[in-house]
Amino acid sequence: MLTCQECVDKLQSYIDRELSEEEHQEVAQHLSRCGHCADSFQFESGVLRVVARCGRSTAAPEEFKARIRVVVRTTIVETK
Ligand SMILES: [Zn+2]
Repeated sequence: MLTCQECVDKLQSYIDRELSEEEHQEVAQHLSRCGHCADSFQFESGVLRVVARCGRSTAAPEEFKARIRVVVRTTIVETK
């Protein structure tokens, strides 16, 4: 079982499908059991969908995504 911090650290790679099969399963399992991380996942994947839809003309989507990641992490720390 991953900790929440490990799950959040892997969330971006999970969404981008960059994890190994084993890691992907670990994150999926954690998300199915942890409301905080599931919320973060829904929030972040929702943001990424918006970025993907509008982002073709956006100059710095990576910077934008990095800012969102900081927000997600801060939210998790505060709700612990
Ligand atoms: Zn969690």
